[in-house]
Amino acid sequence: MKVLVIGGGAREHALCRSLSLDPDVTALHCAPGNAGIAEVAEVHPVDQLDGDAVAALARQLDAGLVVVGPEAPLVAGVADAVRAAGIPCFGPSKEAAQLEGSKAFAKDVMAGANVPTARSYVCTTAEEVDEALDAFGAPYVVKDDGLAAGKGVVVTDDLAQARAHALACDRVVIEEYLDGPEVSLFAITDGTTVLPLQPAQDFKRALDGDEGPNTGGMGAYSPLPWADPKLVDEVMESVLQPTVDELRRRGTPFAGLLYAGLAITSRGVRVIEFNARFGDPETQVVLARLKTPLAGVLLRAAEGTLADQPPLSWSDDAAVTVVVASHNYPGTPRTGDPIAGLAEVAEQDAPHAYVLHAGTKRDGDRVLSAGGRVLSVTATGSDLAQARERAYAAVGRIRLDGAQHRTDIARKAAGE
Ligand code: AMP
Repeated sequence: MKVLVIGGGAREHALCRSLSLDPDVTALHCAPGNAGIAEVAEVHPVDQLDGDAVAALARQLDAGLVVVGPEAPLVAGVADAVRAAGIPCFGPSKEAAQLEGSKAFAKDVMAGANVPTARSYVCTTAEEVDEALDAFGAPYVVKDDGLAAGKGVVVTDDLAQARAHALACDRVVIEEYLDGPEVSLFAITDGTTVLPLQPAQDFKRALDGDEGPNTGGMGAYSPLPWADPKLVDEVMESVLQPTVDELRRRGTPFAGLLYAGLAITSRGVRVIEFNARFGDPETQVVLARLKTPLAGVLLRAAEGTLADQPPLSWSDDAAVTVVVASHNYPGTPRTGDPIAGLAEVAEQDAPHAYVLHAGTKRDGDRVLSAGGRVLSVTATGSDLAQARERAYAAVGRIRLDGAQHRTDIARKAAGE
C-alpha cells in the first residue's frame, strides 16, 4: 500500500513512524512534512489546505490511502477532494469536521445524541455574554466558536478577563466549569463501527503545575494507572457510539478519528470537546503502544469496512512524550535557531526514546526550529516512571537556544 500523510507536526511524524514500521506499507509520502518526517517518508512541498493539490499529488503518487493529520485541512474540505478523486481517505468530510470546527455544532450534536457535556450558552451579544457569565459564575469558561488550535479557550476566575475574551469573539460558547482530571480518548470510526484506542492524558498549560497559558499541548502519557478500567467501555457506550450514530443520522457520517476530550467529574464523565483528528501530543504516546500495524486499520475506516477489523493489540509498556517548545511559545515563538543533540539521542537512547519533529526544517546539514512546538521527545518503558526517566534523559541531550519544556509530565501518574 502506498500512503500519503497530510500535515507537518509531531503527530504526523508519529503517524509516519508507525506507518513506516508497517510491512504492508510499500511507499510512504508526506506533505508538507518536516525535517524529521523526511527521514522516514518522501516529503512534498504541497499546500495542505489545497484539496485539489493534495488530490493531484495523491493521484500522481498512486496512493492507496491518504491520511489527513491536522484539523485545518479537514475543515477546508481536503478529505472530500481526495475522496472525490476516488482515493480512500482517512479523515472526515468538511461537514462532519464541524464537530471540531464549531463548538456550537458540537454542542447541538451532543444534545441530539444525549451525550453528557457541560451546560452552555452560545452568545453573540454583550448582553448575552453578561447573562451567561452571571448564570454560571466563576471559574468562567469562554470558548471562541471557531477553530483556534486549542488556544481559543479561556478558563479564569477573573470576570473582566472572561468578558474581554468573550467580546473579542464573534460567536462565543460560555459554559459550566467541569472539575476533575481530563482524559483524551481517541476512536477510529468508519461512520458506523467505532474502535476505541487506549486513553491518554495531555498537559495543556505551558508551565509546571498546570500554570501559565493554554497551549496546543506540552506533553502526554499513556496508560492512565489511576483511571477506572471500565472507562473506555463506559465512554464507548455513553459518548463515542451515540455521537457517531447521531452524525450518521444527520446525513454527515464521520469517518476518521473521533477524539473525545473528557473530564472525569464527581458527577461522572463529561465531554469537554470533540476533535475531528488525532490529538497532538497524545498520538505520540498512543501510537507508541499500538502493536497492530496501522495502515490496514486506517484503510478499513476509510473504506467503511471497520467491522472486519480484528481487535487491536497493545503493548503493556507505558509511554511518555515531552514537548520541547520555542522561546516565547505560546506567544509569537522565536524560530530559526539550530537544534543540536538529535544524533546523540539516536545513538544513546534509541529504541526506547526517540525524537518526533514538529516545527523543524532542514538547512543544509543543520536542523532549525520553525514553529512554536519544535520537538516531541517520546519514550517507552515498563512503567511510567521508566518512560519518564528515558524521555527526560533524551530531552537533556537536546540543545536549542531559549527552548522550554515542562518537567512534570506524568510525574503524578508515575507516583513521584
Ligand atoms: P478545549 O479547546 O475545549 O479543549 O479547551 C481547552 C482546555 O480548556 C481543556 O483542555 C480544559 O483544560 C479547559 N476547559 C475547556 N472547557 C472546560 C470546562 N467546561 N471546564 C473546565 N475546563 C475546561
